Amino acid sequence: MTKDALASSGGPDDQQVAEALFAKREKIYPREVHGLYATLRNTSVIVLLAIYFLLPWLTWDGRQAVLFDLPARKFYIFALTFWPQDFLNLAFLLIIAALSLFFFTALAGRLWCGYACPQTVWTELFIWVERLLEGNRSQQIRLDKLPRWNPERLRAKLLKHGIWLTIAWYTGFTFLAYFRPAGGLLTDMLLFNLGPWETFWLLFYTFATYGNAGWMREQVCMYMCPYARFQSAMFDNDTLIVSYDSQRGEPRGSRRASDDYKSKGLGDCIDCRICVQVCPTGIDIRNGLQYQCIGCCACIDACDDVMDKMQYARGLIRYTTQNAIAGKRSRVLRPRVLIYATVMLVFGALFAYTLMQRIPLELDVIRDRNQLYRETQGLIENVYTLKIINMDAQGHYYELAVSGIANLALETRDERIFVESGAVYDLPVRVRADAADLVSRSSDIFFNLTAVEDEKLSISEKARFLGPVL
Ligand code: SF4
Ligand code: SF4
Repeated sequence: MTKDALASSGGPDDQQVAEALFAKREKIYPREVHGLYATLRNTSVIVLLAIYFLLPWLTWDGRQAVLFDLPARKFYIFALTFWPQDFLNLAFLLIIAALSLFFFTALAGRLWCGYACPQTVWTELFIWVERLLEGNRSQQIRLDKLPRWNPERLRAKLLKHGIWLTIAWYTGFTFLAYFRPAGGLLTDMLLFNLGPWETFWLLFYTFATYGNAGWMREQVCMYMCPYARFQSAMFDNDTLIVSYDSQRGEPRGSRRASDDYKSKGLGDCIDCRICVQVCPTGIDIRNGLQYQCIGCCACIDACDDVMDKMQYARGLIRYTTQNAIAGKRSRVLRPRVLIYATVMLVFGALFAYTLMQRIPLELDVIRDRNQLYRETQGLIENVYTLKIINMDAQGHYYELAVSGIANLALETRDERIFVESGAVYDLPVRVRADAADLVSRSSDIFFNLTAVEDEKLSISEKARFLGPVL
């Protein structure tokens, strides 16, 4: 539907909706801000970027410390190696991550959005580059008003986009390096030797980073991110949010610092709009809590600075709860926060327990499908293939035993079985029993596999032993 068709479909409300939907985006030039929250945000951005970019280059026991080797179906995380069989641990991790998001949102609003979301982190990085090359907010506005082909503007823009693309490319490369050893990947990339899928993902992440952090910025948070829409379900009047104290600030109005503004009936807000100029999503927090607010607290730092200059008390915009702003009692520890915390702790304990109990050894028993059983030298024989998976960080010698029926005999190719770290070893075995010891046509037997040098590294797997009708 076109703008005109939408606008002509009803009354004045439709006209407003149509205009809002088709409104041209106004570029936001966030003003630089200093203060406690800016320091916290910058620290968080630096730490998270350092972790992301450096992790693929760390080694552990001669291999990449963090590597998600999809073709081999192995996830290496420092000393641990996870296999598809460890899906339960992964499920616990995802549940804990989701619960911690709910917990921190209920407790302190959009902490994730303001300080840790990749969209925020990379946008901050791109804004630093922009400020470095184009100057502060007013210098950037002046530059953008110059003709498109002005040499000064052209030089600054070319340099900025070149650096943005380089950062975006390295972001894409680093992402791939979590799935393929970084050294070999870098060599292949420099020799233009990447496969089609690697090339696709490299280009995809390069242009996604460049587009999201360089061009779209607040549009991603406002129109694309689903979290902004459903986070209000986790909010209540005791959730910490960035709030403007309208009782104290209104009526707003300009004045000199020396004025007796109270006698003029004015509140503490001097209507300087600096809180709007620093906002990365371009909103005015004085209009109340809005879904576009990512909780970055830049407006708090900016307003505190203004209050200091006017020699008013800080905190006209502050991190507080709606109950506190309304003069009511505010509780940090309340049922929903306690429930999130308890469930998170339970899953955390389950994750730790399964990790501690985890035996890095897997044994699969596959029966020979060609023959149910055969009689040889007066004994009943069943044939199996064992698949031994050593999920430990080092190779082991194992011993195999079988139990479940009296006087069982086991015949294998190897007396002691050596399996390399991370290897899958196929071992054909024959198990024989005297027909007189069988109590039914189908009996349970158990293959017991134990590492020679560590008895705790042991696993038992059930199988069926078939014989003639008794
Ligand atoms: S920065 Fe503070 S004083 Fe200035 S407009 Fe915003 S709320 Fe009012
Ligand atoms: S309103 Fe304040 S806290 Fe919210 S996004 Fe804007 S600057 Fe950040």
